[in-house]
Amino acid sequence: MNHDVIVLGAGLAGLAAARDLAAGGADVLILEARDRVGGRVEQAALPDGRRVQLGGEVVGRAHTSYLGLAAELGLELIPSYVAEPGLITRSTPEGDSAGDPPHWFGPGDQAQHERLTAEFVAMAATVDPDDPWSHQEAAVLDRLSVGGWLRSRHASPAVVRLWEIGQLSLASGSYERTSLLAALRKNAAVPSAGHYDYEDWEGLRLAAGSATMAEVMGRELRSRVRLGSPVAAVDIRPGRCAVRLTTGEILTAGAVVSALPVGPLRSVAVTGVSDERLASLHRQRNAVAAKFAAVYTEPFWRAGGRNGLSECEGTLGSTWPQDDGILSALVPPERYGVLLGTPAHLRTPELLGEIAGLFGDRALHPESCHLRLWGTDPWTQGYVTQWTPGEVMAVGPLHGTHEPPFYVCGSDQWVAGYMEGAVRTGRAAAQEALTRG
Ligand SMILES: Cc1cc2nc3c(=O)[nH]c(=O)nc-3n(C[C@H](O)[C@H](O)[C@H](O)COP(=O)(O)OP(=O)(O)OC[C@H]3O[C@@H](n4cnc5c(N)ncnc54)[C@H](O)[C@@H]3O)c2cc1C
Repeated sequence: MNHDVIVLGAGLAGLAAARDLAAGGADVLILEARDRVGGRVEQAALPDGRRVQLGGEVVGRAHTSYLGLAAELGLELIPSYVAEPGLITRSTPEGDSAGDPPHWFGPGDQAQHERLTAEFVAMAATVDPDDPWSHQEAAVLDRLSVGGWLRSRHASPAVVRLWEIGQLSLASGSYERTSLLAALRKNAAVPSAGHYDYEDWEGLRLAAGSATMAEVMGRELRSRVRLGSPVAAVDIRPGRCAVRLTTGEILTAGAVVSALPVGPLRSVAVTGVSDERLASLHRQRNAVAAKFAAVYTEPFWRAGGRNGLSECEGTLGSTWPQDDGILSALVPPERYGVLLGTPAHLRTPELLGEIAGLFGDRALHPESCHLRLWGTDPWTQGYVTQWTPGEVMAVGPLHGTHEPPFYVCGSDQWVAGYMEGAVRTGRAAAQEALTRG
């Protein structure tokens, strides 16, 4: 059967695109490799009714596309962990501290950190997030890592370490391997007084659980979603595109919207689009990360005046409270290999041991634990986009653009990943496809 549009992938981007295409009158089919919708948003229901988020979890007040879609779907947003009372914990091999400044700071470090933050924010204001390539110094800024820039501005090792531990807590790859231009572009996309303002990026979450957004759209689109249908090849021709599944079945459509992550997309044979586009798409990379969630009966970390938020230098890079008594944690790319090298039966006890080092031995007695190795999941192969030095220029201005009748969306096609990127690019791709007919 021939369709108007075939959407590849039923993550937030593919679902948001398909929903708008269907609303615009298109006959749309979504092909999804897994046996569920949601991709990098996924939740598990606990016997007591709580839901554990195993993937994307929080958004910020600046994430306007996501917030708009949540409102359309009637989903309530509530304050996230950012509103949790208490102090942040920082933990490094030589010590721990609660609140600011961190224990490794010496005289002058705090003032230097504030000066460099102001410089970074001012520089970010000179970058157009939709067109970073037009910046006069684009190539120079892209070649430099954030760590290299900090040192070029005479940052002390203590200040570099604070920026680095913060970056690894987000698990999107070391600042020693992150393009300065990419970091500035990300800041420019959500401008704020500080460097990665937590309220702007992470201050809200869906009351019903983040993955509920995908589940609701999946139910709306039910008959249009084919689960368990991995795509192997796509051939793009004006008027008639062909999509081949791994089973050999061939489906046809007038247009194709790819909402696949960049890793799995590399394994799909795409013909009929320009070499430049394929080179740009295939160049993109994802930071690999794992998420760990430990479920407790109550938020025990509060007793010690802590807010459950931590930045740490163990196998874990961070922890934060996701819901009443549920603690989330991320393993950043730099430590993912350490986690994989840990025998499977020792991973959970060792990660719980790290959390106990932060918040006390009560951490050793969760009701349940959930470890999700996103970095080596075949249908994700990552976590969020990683822009190493030189990559913004190498991927180039084709990033996030389309080659009708081949449309590209997904969080990897926005500045820096995130659920906002998925919804924003998904809806924009649908709009473009509807406009072009
Ligand atoms: C652990 C973790 C924590 C995160 N935390 C946050 C957060 O707090 N806030 C935030 O904003 N973002 C967060 N993110 C990022 C956010 O979840 C993602 O950027 C977003 O959900 C990606 O949506 P997407 O639709 O672009 O891609 P995906 O969700 O990856 O969807 C792509 C879909 O394509 C399918 N697919 C892959 N290959 C094929 C194929 N060959 N054929 C058919 N289907 C295929 C996949 O199965 C998947 O369903 C997090 C991500 C992870 C993994």
